[in-house]
Amino acid sequence: MTHPLLDLTPLTAHHFATIERKVAALLGLDAPGSGGHELVVTQGEALLPLEGCIRGVAGPGTVALNIVTGPYGQTFGNWLRDCGATVHDLAVPFDTAVSAAQVREALAAHPETDFVSLVHAEAATGNTNPVAGIGEVVREHGALLMLDAVASVGAEPLLPAEWGVDLCVIGAQKALGGPAGVSVAALSPRAWERLEANPAGPRGSYLSLLDWKHRWIDAGRKALPHAPAQLEMLALEACLERFAAEGPDLVRGRHARAAAAVRAGLAALGTPLTPYVTEARDAAPVATTVRVPVTGTGPDAATLVAKALAAHPSLPLAAGGGALAAEMVRVNHYGPLAAENVVRDSLRALAAAWSEATGERADTRAADRAVAETWAAGQA
Ligand SMILES: *Cc1c(COP(=O)(O)O)cnc(C)c1O
Repeated sequence: MTHPLLDLTPLTAHHFATIERKVAALLGLDAPGSGGHELVVTQGEALLPLEGCIRGVAGPGTVALNIVTGPYGQTFGNWLRDCGATVHDLAVPFDTAVSAAQVREALAAHPETDFVSLVHAEAATGNTNPVAGIGEVVREHGALLMLDAVASVGAEPLLPAEWGVDLCVIGAQKALGGPAGVSVAALSPRAWERLEANPAGPRGSYLSLLDWKHRWIDAGRKALPHAPAQLEMLALEACLERFAAEGPDLVRGRHARAAAAVRAGLAALGTPLTPYVTEARDAAPVATTVRVPVTGTGPDAATLVAKALAAHPSLPLAAGGGALAAEMVRVNHYGPLAAENVVRDSLRALAAAWSEATGERADTRAADRAVAETWAAGQA
């Protein structure tokens, strides 16, 4: 018996290269003069190329500025230290974004810095960082800039070449609405040089981006070093085609409107639930985080989410990770979930859970109106 997910013909080198070109186009890396980034499509969730980038670049001689605006920055710091790098963390509270001025100051304080790691948007904490300005500062300094753009790609503008990003990692599973088992690292010529020059970097290893460069890119993309994971690659291609068919501006517009609508709806509810990220300009379009006041008597965020999901299991609600589980709710409005009804229903469910737990009223009709008005305003 044949099966739609099985019995697929092997992906050819030509087909794989076609998918790579579609990813390059998504990132604006296909245009002449765009800086010569070469990308590697890796079969694995985005942590694979993120770790591959850091271990490829870093060694005992590396001095890294690691910008921490959420949990992923913390992970990068751990990998960098594990590689023997000297690491200076620039941490900002999760309810805000880092500024280019803060990065400039940190680089001035540590002039020997030769590598900067940054997360663009943090789905886990709901903030987004001004990469264009930061890229300018890092380029002036002469360090390499690595960007985790897994949660921003598709949801907001992402221009790695123009912004001076040397190592850019994306995944398909957030705003692109694609598979979680495939991801991409795009490296500038400067970044590839650093990998080549780093004796401590992985070689002959699953974590080695250089292996792919030598055996696939430098060899003319004629023969695949390993069998690509067909399901993931076909799903990646499908989500890129769907993204292009809807149109990047429309997809980004849906995400921006979803974020704005959650914020407007929260304000209209009249409960103590507020946007976790204080300023709208620092809020990521991919997901909106909600602050639940920690009072000792009211429900904590995890309790609220559990109640909301018990009534509406399919809503994209989650409590914050680790210590944030007490005070943060995430509304993950990405991919197909960046939609008006999802935002409205998520707010209704949170409001109902709040009222049930506290006996306090929530103005869901006003929230519905605020969501509808915000959505319509964004449509213009
Ligand atoms: C989602 C995400 C990733 C990928 O991690 P998962 O464990 O697959 O969710 C990496 N970086 C950022 C910033 C993300 O938001």
